[in-house]
Amino acid sequence: MIGHLSHLNYKIHSIKGRYLPLTDLKPITDNWDSFVVKDLNGASVNGTPIPVYRFGSGNKKILMWSQMHGNESTTTKGLMDFLNFLNTPSEASSQILQQCTLIVIPILNPDGAFAYTRFNKNQVDLNRDFQDFSQPESAFLKTVFDYISPDFCFNLHDQRTIFSVGSPAKPATMSFLAPSADKNCSLTPSREIAMKLIAVMNDTLRQMIPNQIGRFDDTFNNQCVGDYFQELGVPTILFEAGHYSEDYQREVSRAMVFHALFSAVNAISSESYLNYTTASYFGIPENQKEFLDLGVKHPHLVNKNIPHDTIVGIQYKEVLESNKIIFVPEFYALDQENKFSFHKIVDLAIINSDLQATVFQNIKDIVASVCV
Ligand SMILES: [Zn+2]
Repeated sequence: MIGHLSHLNYKIHSIKGRYLPLTDLKPITDNWDSFVVKDLNGASVNGTPIPVYRFGSGNKKILMWSQMHGNESTTTKGLMDFLNFLNTPSEASSQILQQCTLIVIPILNPDGAFAYTRFNKNQVDLNRDFQDFSQPESAFLKTVFDYISPDFCFNLHDQRTIFSVGSPAKPATMSFLAPSADKNCSLTPSREIAMKLIAVMNDTLRQMIPNQIGRFDDTFNNQCVGDYFQELGVPTILFEAGHYSEDYQREVSRAMVFHALFSAVNAISSESYLNYTTASYFGIPENQKEFLDLGVKHPHLVNKNIPHDTIVGIQYKEVLESNKIIFVPEFYALDQENKFSFHKIVDLAIINSDLQATVFQNIKDIVASVCV
């Protein structure tokens, strides 16, 4: 039995932050020529090649793709760190590489990654294109799937800061889903395997982020890639990296992705996931949408139309500026019934805020302009 790994030993420090275009992976992937699957030549709408890599030679085939949504880079960071672990000789990595073959697409939507958008260059959400296959990126993933005929699929995403788990609400730092294979959300054999693997990951992660792991809604939609592959009978897992207190660069959830990937792949390699139950999966609480980035207290000090006990909820919009993501506050909702939790509270009655003066002024201006 192989224990936990230290993420810091494998973290690739040149890859960081939220903006992660394909070119930022090049210093690493330039050394991966021998891992490129040469038969698979996909390209984005803009003509950017979509590289596919193969690691290991075992008979358990795992297909993974990240950044299908271009602005969801956290899982790519954790995935790159995990691949760095696999490429670093150790007993743990060689055991996995003997038992498993990993086929990996680090960035499926390079145009979206470059533009920092969810969509591809044609403004299509690739994760709603798995009946039509109207886009080259989604069609290519299906080509890879058919070529590999995987035993497991890992579908890697980021979730917004709004997702919460439990009561009192905590940020959903990682969430998972074993997507449904049909409208009745039946427990098909492939879905049960996906659930057991999620139970493995939950067991690992809850030691590090207790009460911050959620389970996504399983409403069936076979335009989504996970539901589509599950319908085809291949155990498929949706990973969603989320927010951790104050960590807008998502370096904490990146580490959680690393640990989740290691524990799942290791469990596939050793088949230890077979000892887990679907009941443990259903024991993971479902995600809610209860967290907002900022709550502003005493808004009446700058806007007399807002009752003094109301909290003004603000969400950050992520804007790409000079190759960095900046977080621009925007009014979201008035919270009169304590419906929301907040990642941070700003009290307009207290001048000595730990926010920068310009940000504090910006927030005051937003509150002042709220129409009630
Ligand atoms: Zn996504």
